[in-house]
Parts: sequence; C-alpha cells; structure tokens
Amino acid sequence: MDYRGIFEDAVDALRQEKRYRVFADLERIAGRFPRAVYRDTSDNAREITIWCSNDYLGMGQHPVTIAAMQETAGKLGVGAGGTRNISGTNRPLVELERSLADLHRKEAALVFTSGFVSNEAAISTIARLLPDCIILSDQLNHASMIQGVRQSGMEKKIFRHNDVAHLRELLAGIDRKRPKLICFESVYSMDGDVAPIAEICDLAAEFGALTYIDEVHAVGMYGPRGGGIAERDGLMDRIDIIEGTLAKGFGVMGGYIAANRAIIDAVRSYAPEFIFTTALPPALCAAARASIEHLKTSSEERRLHKRQAQLTKDILGDAGLPVMPTSTHIVPLIVGDARLCKAASDMLLEKHNIYIQPINYPTVPKGTERLRITPTPMHSDEMIIELRHALVSVWASLELPRERPETKITSDKLVSGDLLLPTMGG
Ligand SMILES: *Cc1c(COP(=O)(O)O)cnc(C)c1O
Repeated sequence: MDYRGIFEDAVDALRQEKRYRVFADLERIAGRFPRAVYRDTSDNAREITIWCSNDYLGMGQHPVTIAAMQETAGKLGVGAGGTRNISGTNRPLVELERSLADLHRKEAALVFTSGFVSNEAAISTIARLLPDCIILSDQLNHASMIQGVRQSGMEKKIFRHNDVAHLRELLAGIDRKRPKLICFESVYSMDGDVAPIAEICDLAAEFGALTYIDEVHAVGMYGPRGGGIAERDGLMDRIDIIEGTLAKGFGVMGGYIAANRAIIDAVRSYAPEFIFTTALPPALCAAARASIEHLKTSSEERRLHKRQAQLTKDILGDAGLPVMPTSTHIVPLIVGDARLCKAASDMLLEKHNIYIQPINYPTVPKGTERLRITPTPMHSDEMIIELRHALVSVWASLELPRERPETKITSDKLVSGDLLLPTMGG
C-alpha cells in the first residue's frame, strides 16, 4: 500500500483546483502594528504591512495585554497544570469568566481553548441535552457551528442566510412541543453583513425557541462596552447563549459562552471538549481579561476602527475598485476567480509589501473569490492611500474586473437545503 502516495494525491487534487493553501511566514513587531517582517521561501526577510489581520483592534500588542501576560507568567508560570477538573482552574481564569459574564450581562460564562471549540462543544451539548431537539441554523454559519450541529446528532433545518421569512416558515412547520435551538452569527465575516437579531429573537419568542449567537467578529468592537452587536442594539437580554472569541477583537486566544447559570453548568458538566483538555494558561487568561476590561471603558479603539474602516471603503470605492458594500469593519474586494485572486495577493506582497491573503473556495463560494481587507485603528490614513495605489496597480496589471458587486452576492450564489460548505475562514 502506497500510503505516502495517497496523501500526496489528496494534496495534488487541491493544487489542481487552485485551493492549495500556502501560509505566509510573518513575524509581527510589537508596538508597530500592523507592520511585520515577512520571510520568503529562501528566508529573505523584509518589512511589510498586514491588511488582513483578525486582531481587529491591535489589542494583541496593546501595552495592557502584554503587561498582564508578562506579569502573570512571572508570578504563576506558563502552563495551567491540568484540565479544569485536575487543578487547571487558576485564579485568572475565574476572574476572566466573571469579566465575560459581566460584559454580556449574563449570570455566568465558560471559557474554552478556542472559539471553534466553544461553538462545537456548546451547540452539540446544549442540543443533546434537549430531548428531541431540532436545530435551526443559518446557511452561512461558520464551520465550527456546523461542526457543533453535526456533532449533536440532532435533526437540523438550514434557513437561507439572514432570511427571517424562511426561518418563520421552518419554525411553523415544527411540532410546537419540540425544543428548538436557533443558531446564527451577528457579523458574518466574509461578506461583512449583520443578522436581523431583533427579528430572529421575535420569532424565537413566538415559537418558543432558544437563541444562540456567535459574536466572534463583533465582541470588543461594537456596543458601548464592546459586548457586540447585541449590546449595541440593546438585545443582549433576548439572546440565550452568546458565544465569542478572545482571539480576534480581544487580541489573545480562547473562546467562551455566556448564558444563564443552568446552561453554563450543564455545558461545563457534559461537554467532552471542555472536560478532557488542559485549561488555558493563567497568563493568557490575565491578558484576555485585561483586554476585555480595557475595552469596556475605552471607546477610542472602536471610534478609530470605525473611522479607518469607513475611510478604506470610501477611498477604495472612489478609486473604482469593486468593494462589496458592508455596514461593518470588513472590506471585501471581489476578484471572482481563484487563480487571479492568488495572483493579486502574490503581486501585492512581491511588488508592494502588502499582505492580504486570497480567500477562495471553500471559505467562500466559487465565483466570489476575494481579498478580504480588515482595517484597524493602527492603519493610518497614509497606509490607506498606499493600499489604494497598490490595488489600483495590481487591478490594472492583472486586468481584474471593476464592477461593483451587488450585496448578498454570497447567499445568492448558494443553494439552500442542506449544510453547505463549511466556511473555513474566519
Ligand atoms: C474565527 C471564528 C471562530 C473560531 O474562533 P477561534 O477563537 O479562532 O477558534 C468562530 N466563529 C466564527 C464566525 C469565526 O470567524
């Protein structure tokens, strides 16, 4: 048996479909975000600007997070020492969960090793504990939510992306006595659009469903205290389970859910993804908490973030580039072809020292391949203008399309009815 050959063939298949992934070797420079040292395949180093980081507010390099991590590592050491059950519940982790419960105005919170794990563990465990539960899941939900739905083994219905009429139709067709769990996101990270949260909560109330929202791309960034879109819109108390990451807006690592004490205690007690893995290190918990607490009171990062995102959209749009219209901080530029998308990304890096990775299938549907730009408070006006010049030059060299795409390009191109491509980006 040629085991090696089987793996090589599997990877070759990806190469042929132009979706073989190459990672850029980057070394971020603390204090100079979004600048980083890039090393090419021959290890030649040079400085570049990152335009696609999910460290949306630069909190990964903020003095308060760095200090909290260094100080706690000095005092408590680096590892957690075990699972939560076996001596892994350190003081900084207890404080972190309190800080998160307070952020979302919930009775309790539970921290996991990542946002991915928190979605998989929470959705599957909650659904399994509800007898004969049926899950209603947005068509564009993240791979980790799809994984949670699958893992639960419960029946599922997929509603068309952000389509409350379709959700209502599905709910109306389900036996009123069955427990229901509606799973959706607030900000969808590839198109940068936002869910109709209030309408979904209305439907949940009408049909007696639980609501589960993934606020991964919103926590830290929206709401007066960084509680997310639900906080911004005054809807946090209408959502049963809020899920978030500590790795994007908060700039560190880890995932969590916040909910009432009964739900948190049940997930804590039943989810294998929580029980049988070593807890997050204390220093990391302290850094995450410092970031959350900082963003509860400081709105400066949010204000600047919004400003630079809008400026980027305006400047790129005025230059005739195909910016997908969004109401959030995410700026997708449609290329519409996997090979050209990769070529554009390569050219930006080689000729302009700008790093934006190509987003191809299966993260987004074929034909909607894109460059996904994420401006941060640290991207200066000058950097935005540099970006504009670089993109205009790449668009001309590769003769890329300039038509401004319609909104909802992604959902229109998808076929509804079943769990689709797990979106592997984010
Ligand atoms: C990134 C992402 C996650 C996973 O969070 P991690 O902390 O990176 O594991 C979950 N949901 C969405 C929508 C994401 O984009």
